[in-house]
Amino acid sequence: EGEGSEDSENDLFHLTAGDTEVLAKQVIFATGFSDVRPDPPLPRTGRGLHWCLHCDAYMFVDEPVFVMGTGEATAHVAMIMLNFTPEVDILTRGEEIEWSEGTDEQVRAHPIDIVEEELAGMNKRDDGWLESLEFEDGSRREYRGGFPMYGSDYNNELAASLGCDTNDDGTVAVDDHGRTSVGGVYAVGDLIAGHNQIPVAMGEGAKAGISIHYDIRKFPMSKEEIEAAGGEISAEDVPAIGEELRTQAREHAGKAGEAGTSEAAGDD
Ligand SMILES: Cc1cc2nc3c(=O)[nH]c(=O)nc-3n(C[C@H](O)[C@H](O)[C@H](O)COP(=O)(O)OP(=O)(O)OC[C@H]3O[C@@H](n4cnc5c(N)ncnc54)[C@H](O)[C@@H]3O)c2cc1C
Repeated sequence: EGEGSEDSENDLFHLTAGDTEVLAKQVIFATGFSDVRPDPPLPRTGRGLHWCLHCDAYMFVDEPVFVMGTGEATAHVAMIMLNFTPEVDILTRGEEIEWSEGTDEQVRAHPIDIVEEELAGMNKRDDGWLESLEFEDGSRREYRGGFPMYGSDYNNELAASLGCDTNDDGTVAVDDHGRTSVGGVYAVGDLIAGHNQIPVAMGEGAKAGISIHYDIRKFPMSKEEIEAAGGEISAEDVPAIGEELRTQAREHAGKAGEAGTSEAAGDD
């Protein structure tokens, strides 16, 4: 758990995470979200209960699949699953349908069964994978797996407490570089709008990191900055790297010309 508050005295962010305390000029939030979990009975995650369409849809080619929920996303994901399998049911579990009339027309024009009964039970195969779901009316349907679509709770409390703008769905609003509406505060990954995938989150992290480097690096100095510094940059001013980081970098195994660099290791 982390706690963040802006230190107005010196314009640094004061971060605490357990026993660790850090002062930082910039902060990147990557606190993600939590999927809203429907009530049991449910199969095991990864053995019939799946949260990520991009990640797991491929597992269900020609398998019977459910999509659970009542909102727009439920109908949308059910229709998408028809790219993978002909057997797709929507399970509303006795709740009222919330998707729009237009979506209703669209989804009912696709070969999808909409099952409105609440669940009564669940049966697993010996290997732990889902075998079938039972309904309160006594019926039973075979499924290999499915996707609950009850939305996401974005972990935006820390970002919001610093005043970062959020979007209607709870994602933190950012520009192309991951900058939030608050100076020095960035957000990346599942916490912002976009595809929820590890490579996407890593790419956004890299972009935010580069953007921060642009913000905090000292050189090149503008003509105005050089003038303010006395008209000249002296030899003592370079390199612009703190002592601690400089020491670490000197000792780092990847330092140019040292054993352990990729070329020295014969690794292109
Ligand atoms: C079941 C499942 C399977 C998936 N499979 C794949 C896959 O196969 N391939 C793929 O590319 N993607 C997959 N994803 C998506 C992928 O996991 C995410 O897109 C990725 O992890 C996003 O990274 P992130 O750092 O933004 O968020 P997360 O990985 O969610 O990390 C956020 C972290 O922040 C922590 N946190 C939250 N609030 C606070 C706080 N206040 N203080 C301190 N820490 C906090 C959380 O505990 C968490 O550890 C899957 C997701 C799920 C749920």
